[in-house]
Amino acid sequence: MDQGVAMARRISRQVRIGDVFIGGTFPIPIQSMTKTDTRDLKATVREIIRLKEAGCQIVRVAVPDMEVARLLGKIKREVDIPLVADIHFDHLLALEAIRQGVDKLRINPGNIRKKSQIEEIVKSAKARGIPIRIGVNAGSLNRRKYPHPTPEALVDSALNCIEIFERLGFSEIVISLKASSISTTISAYRLMAEKVDYPFHIGITETGPPGRGSIKSAIGIGILLAEGIGDTIRVSLTGDPVEEIKVGYEILKALDLQAGIDLISCPTCGRCEIDLIKVVTQLEEKLTTHYSSLATRLLKVAVMGCVVNGPGEAREADIGLAAGKGVGLIFKRGKILKKVKEKEMLKCLLEEIEKELKG
Ligand code: SF4
Repeated sequence: MDQGVAMARRISRQVRIGDVFIGGTFPIPIQSMTKTDTRDLKATVREIIRLKEAGCQIVRVAVPDMEVARLLGKIKREVDIPLVADIHFDHLLALEAIRQGVDKLRINPGNIRKKSQIEEIVKSAKARGIPIRIGVNAGSLNRRKYPHPTPEALVDSALNCIEIFERLGFSEIVISLKASSISTTISAYRLMAEKVDYPFHIGITETGPPGRGSIKSAIGIGILLAEGIGDTIRVSLTGDPVEEIKVGYEILKALDLQAGIDLISCPTCGRCEIDLIKVVTQLEEKLTTHYSSLATRLLKVAVMGCVVNGPGEAREADIGLAAGKGVGLIFKRGKILKKVKEKEMLKCLLEEIEKELKG
């Protein structure tokens, strides 16, 4: 995939999570986390399947107790996506998750502090070939050691843990350094990028509901990716996790880092002489479901309201519509294909998109 606006990508090691690779020059997978009570096997599996259908490539589940840890094998057998166990506080949960065959662990060095317990986890993961994400979070730093969640504190917390891993000859490491502050998060990843070559899981944590959370995530994740930093992303929203996947794809597509359909549409104004908002809303609904999954490259679709910018944008896109009074010109790779009436616009655009994707 074209690097688009992104600077040269930071060179990181490759790590395999189930059948998905991250790091190196591999595409950047989008991940999410279930929000069900993991004890509810049916609901959790249902949510994982929904996430996978939405394009999620790695999924994480919370493991709050031993009952859940013992369920992980069952969950894994029911789904077809790399499964990550999210472990806090109790290293025994990590050991059980490994026994259950999860594809990766996430541990939090802020709340599993005993060196001997971390060593036990690392030895067990090493024996089973399971990678571990060292997931540092500003909200759960060891406050006696780090009174304030500065970028340096996040990095230092991860480095201490990395040192234990490396001493045991373990290098299947992924790192995350998340804070709800965009500037803290960005500074922490920049700092860490100068120190190690392990792949980074990036995201802004606790961003809030989908509206504001998508904006914060796009800014934070977008800046890092544009600097070439980041090997897998997770958008954290207070809402349906499927929204996290949709936003993740939009971020990657906006940076030309992901196959899919990039919809370019004008905001409309007093010059527009069709109901462009309706056409675009209906098109967007179709594109986020069936059509996007067919894309093997980034397809640009422009829908424009009048002759001011319409023909220019429509010509530059793979497929374009430049509207006039109740009619529109459909463009395909810069050439006018046909003239359509307003009520036929949506159908015609979808037909051309499908032809292009299948062709
Ligand atoms: S393309 Fe035309 S209708 Fe759309 S915002 Fe620009 S001037 Fe207005």
